[in-house]
Amino acid sequence: LEIQLRQAQKMEAIGTLAGGIAHDFNNILSPIIGYTEMAMVEAVENSTMERNLNEVMKAAERAKELVFQILTFSRQTEIEKKPVQAQLVIREALKLLRSSIPASIQFEKKINKECGPVLADPTQIHQLLMNLCTNAYHAMGESGGVLTVEFDEAAVLSDGNPATINLKPGKYVRLTISDTGHGMTQAVQEKIFDPYFTTKAQGKGTGLGLAVVHGIVKSMEGDIQVDSKPGRGTSFIIYLPQVESIVQNAAPRTNASLPRGD
Ligand code: ADP
Repeated sequence: LEIQLRQAQKMEAIGTLAGGIAHDFNNILSPIIGYTEMAMVEAVENSTMERNLNEVMKAAERAKELVFQILTFSRQTEIEKKPVQAQLVIREALKLLRSSIPASIQFEKKINKECGPVLADPTQIHQLLMNLCTNAYHAMGESGGVLTVEFDEAAVLSDGNPATINLKPGKYVRLTISDTGHGMTQAVQEKIFDPYFTTKAQGKGTGLGLAVVHGIVKSMEGDIQVDSKPGRGTSFIIYLPQVESIVQNAAPRTNASLPRGD
């Protein structure tokens, strides 16, 4: 609990500071991208000028992505929660991922289309999946491997099953993202949700991806677990409460028995 508290305080302090900077930085980026686009229209095809402008654009887009991560992390963007069929968001996000992931990575998905809705902002689910899959892909590198995305219903029972999960009993959805990449040592696993923790080379990682994922999952009153072995691979398992469960938990409880799932 103390670690969780320290984490929350750290997140908040850094979040407020970074959020302010990111917001101003975003305003600076817009004209950079805008004027670069205009210059690219005028540049002669295949000229050095065109190639240079391309590099400017790539860097600016990377900066925009970074700003977006920081803004989400500090929750400076507007978040509108509503009941969402997460499986639909996942399907869209996976389509996008497929086109950007090299052919050396084998894609497996097992999605239960019948899962009940969760209370979320769809962009949060989208970002959660993108961040986890991008990490998975980085962990496997050019040599490739298998990326598996599973989505299903799961019940957390009143007898504390599954034991590793620290959640109220009820109906949940479970999202599992597994890779056959380089995995993590125990020491690394302990720090992965810390903001700005990264083992990636300078300029490659922001260290914010998992802090953002952690923040999203917690804001949805879910839980995230990691199961990783060096040299073998990593699984992230996320539990999110179904809307039905939230409503039931909010209602004054008589002696009704707890939902047992399917
Ligand atoms: P970044 O990806 O920018 O480094 P993250 O917060 O997303 O930031 O991840 C933090 C660190 O956690 C990574 O640098 C890496 O060491 C580790 N990590 C995250 N996902 C995986 C994975 N699927 N396999 C192995 N290591 C991972």
